[in-house]
Amino acid sequence: MSSRYDVIVVGGGPAGASTAICCAELGLRVALLEKGAPNRHKPCGGVLPWVASDIIESIIGEAIPERVYSNPATLGLHYTPPSGKANSGEMRGYKIHNIHRDKFDQWLRDLAVDAQVDVMYNTRFTLFEESRNLRVHADSAKGPLSLGTKYVVGADGVRSSVRGCLKRQAQTPVMLVGQETWPLTGDFRDFFYGLFREEISPIYAYAIPKDETLIIGLGVKPRESPNLDEALVRFRAWLSQEFAFKPDTRLEREVWAIPFGYFEPGQDNVVMVGDAAGLCNPLSGEGIRLGIESGEVASSAIAAAESGKSLIDTFNSEISGMADMVRGTYDFACGLDDKGREQFVLEELSRGTMRT
Ligand SMILES: Cc1cc2nc3c(=O)[nH]c(=O)nc-3n(C[C@H](O)[C@H](O)[C@H](O)COP(=O)(O)OP(=O)(O)OC[C@H]3O[C@@H](n4cnc5c(N)ncnc54)[C@H](O)[C@@H]3O)c2cc1C
Repeated sequence: MSSRYDVIVVGGGPAGASTAICCAELGLRVALLEKGAPNRHKPCGGVLPWVASDIIESIIGEAIPERVYSNPATLGLHYTPPSGKANSGEMRGYKIHNIHRDKFDQWLRDLAVDAQVDVMYNTRFTLFEESRNLRVHADSAKGPLSLGTKYVVGADGVRSSVRGCLKRQAQTPVMLVGQETWPLTGDFRDFFYGLFREEISPIYAYAIPKDETLIIGLGVKPRESPNLDEALVRFRAWLSQEFAFKPDTRLEREVWAIPFGYFEPGQDNVVMVGDAAGLCNPLSGEGIRLGIESGEVASSAIAAAESGKSLIDTFNSEISGMADMVRGTYDFACGLDDKGREQFVLEELSRGTMRT
């Protein structure tokens, strides 16, 4: 293991692992610092839009292996508007991958090892310093580490410490997401269920059949009503009423956050990707694909920097389409009331769909 790298990537989630793989494929010396242990758990619904598998394969160079999939491996898409199941329906021909998130992330980190990335587990980034080059400090199981590098990639998630080191005091608002796992009961078929109703969530709620369980989740704004507990009580009641869900024995409850209304690309020779950059779809909570795609963009900006261009200017220019999409979706999501949500679902379902 070297103490001098071209690129140090902080965070071994999808954004960090894919950035590290892409940079290693450019022939750069890369370290990936991950504070967790192998097989680290990330609270997640574990669904990917159908197109994501092709995108991931083209970026990573490998297809998602079968062992990473949950049962059922493929889901359809079903929307329920505020008025309830009577006006709900499936998006005809729409398919979604149902994956096991922890296995997916480990698969990517293992590919990073195959690509000659130094993957360092149980290694927590603490800060970077700028002198002639960058110096990254971390705490590892073996003691403090100090590593030199030309570029740092902040891929350390929604509560990014790398972003904190940029000292810009940027507002980084989040949406809290509560997720519960229950034994699978009720009239659920092989769909990702997206449900919209103001009294349950100002943004989105979902239900996902996965490996004989039902994962349910929703997002709320911190310090606003309803709070997570109230919202989950109402959501369970709505699912019971509309889908005969029987919430008897909860298997798991988790609370995490997604970015909600910020974009932080980085500065100088530090770039931010994935949740750390704020790149997560605010209307659907989809962030895995955006993390991987932003990792590819970061690696291409690093390649440009190696040939004398400005890293941050190149990254800003190449990431602008994705950042605009996230910003636009945020404005749309925040502007919806129940009438707008009803209309949104109606319009989505009218694009060649079937009502249930
Ligand atoms: C409840 C919930 C459900 C979701 N469901 C879906 C879904 O079904 N589909 C989807 O596409 N998206 C989903 N998302 C969003 C998705 O999980 C994120 O957008 C995605 O994980 C972002 O990937 P990332 O690599 O940027 O960050 P992360 O996956 O958060 O990875 C960050 C990594 O950095 C590490 N790290 C953090 N701090 C440090 C440090 N100081 N030093 C070293 N390492 C550090 C962490 O341990 C972690 O491994 C969901 C989010 C939530 C909260």
